[in-house]
Amino acid sequence: MKLSPTRPLSRWTPAVLLLAVVWQVAPALLVAERAASSEDSAGGFRLVAKVAAGDSAATTQPAERNGAQAGTEAAKETEERLFGLGRHESKHYVLFSNHSAKTNRDLLTRLERMFDLYRRQTAGYSKPITKKLVVCVFDNREDFVAAGGHPKMPGIYRHGFGLMVINHSKSLETPFLHLVRHEGWHQYVHQAVAVGVPIWVDEGLAEYLGYGIWTGDGYVLKVIRPEAFYSLKGYVDSDQLAPLDEFLTRSSAAWLTRAGTPKGWGYYMQAWSLVYFLRHGDDGKHSKLLDSYLRNVRHGRGLTKATEAITALNDDYHEWCRSLTRSKGYEHFYEAAVATLTSHLGRAHARGQRFASAADFLKAARQGKLKLPAAGSDQWLPPSLLKEGLWYLDEMNEAAVRAGPLKLTLDKSAGLPRLRLTHPCEIDLTGRFALKSGKVRHVKVVFHKRPAVDLETSVKQYVAKRKEAEGKRKKPRR
Ligand SMILES: [Zn+2]
Repeated sequence: MKLSPTRPLSRWTPAVLLLAVVWQVAPALLVAERAASSEDSAGGFRLVAKVAAGDSAATTQPAERNGAQAGTEAAKETEERLFGLGRHESKHYVLFSNHSAKTNRDLLTRLERMFDLYRRQTAGYSKPITKKLVVCVFDNREDFVAAGGHPKMPGIYRHGFGLMVINHSKSLETPFLHLVRHEGWHQYVHQAVAVGVPIWVDEGLAEYLGYGIWTGDGYVLKVIRPEAFYSLKGYVDSDQLAPLDEFLTRSSAAWLTRAGTPKGWGYYMQAWSLVYFLRHGDDGKHSKLLDSYLRNVRHGRGLTKATEAITALNDDYHEWCRSLTRSKGYEHFYEAAVATLTSHLGRAHARGQRFASAADFLKAARQGKLKLPAAGSDQWLPPSLLKEGLWYLDEMNEAAVRAGPLKLTLDKSAGLPRLRLTHPCEIDLTGRFALKSGKVRHVKVVFHKRPAVDLETSVKQYVAKRKEAEGKRKKPRR
């Protein structure tokens, strides 16, 4: 479809509306969840706040230059504009955006890593995508609507065209990146699997992948964000989750008629939690059912057997939902922070930079003094990523401070340095990197101790014990 920069797209359709409707109801829920979250001061990991991740991030030190300003993922601007937005390209995407060159490069790199993620999710049965995928980022709602966007949605995926999203910020913050990962999945799966992918799995995977955290050398997908937990808990407590045989066969029309309502949001939360359960519940042993279901969709086969295999897990799924605690999934925020920092430590180490301690490493990271790969290198990481990793660390530190601060140490006992994060409440994990030909090839986070399932209670007990011990010490002797 040839688009003119001055001609808006045809009006949005109900199907398009549905794909983005999550964002109409989410903000109101988030407000409620923030309030609920802030009431809990013990171990209250208030990660619902946005991440300020953008151009103001610590700048990298170009320790190497390969002579090319743009690498495979770097932005390449041409004269062609669309809706008044400048055109930039990477291997799989054409981005139309008026962001700064730095932010466009950041977003294109993130889009490419999202593409890798989508491809891994559909490995073994996805079709190759031969045409570059279009993403338009508008600065304001007026331009978005004038181009054919929905007046109340922050973003839509239009089959046959691409993504249209609004970013009110000059930088790339977490809610915006969630939106792009969510809608980007629709864009990918409709091209690589099937346009008619059933709505529960389309939206469930979009939410699941949307919550994922990119760490530089991988993704952490098992996080359960507080807002998702509180939403799901509300539906569980009020007995609003449907039996799976009904849920999996629920029509798109049923989703659409409840779009923008709390009930409609419940559909999203059930879809997200079901995908999460299938991927990770019972140690991931049901994940192949999800793959088998999608493989059948891809090849246009009947879904009866695949649906029955999933609905047979109805009781297990509902029990899993009931057993969730707010801190379930928190450990993966620690994992994401340690993995992100380790990706940076590995790159600096490969460039000869050594640190006496974790404090020295963090100081250099915060001051923008890490020796990191220059833009254009395939090892380059967006500056916003380091800022995001540090933000997670600071947020967790602040939240955990009542029970003693998180402690980050540099373990130099085994060849390459490792970052170890510990906390008195059973948290102990180490980030390791592996190098090959001077490049970080692998980052792995190993848990020595995992947080208690009910972290809030664990923290409260720890604080009570500590106070009791302090009280005994202060007691005057008779
Ligand atoms: Zn969607």
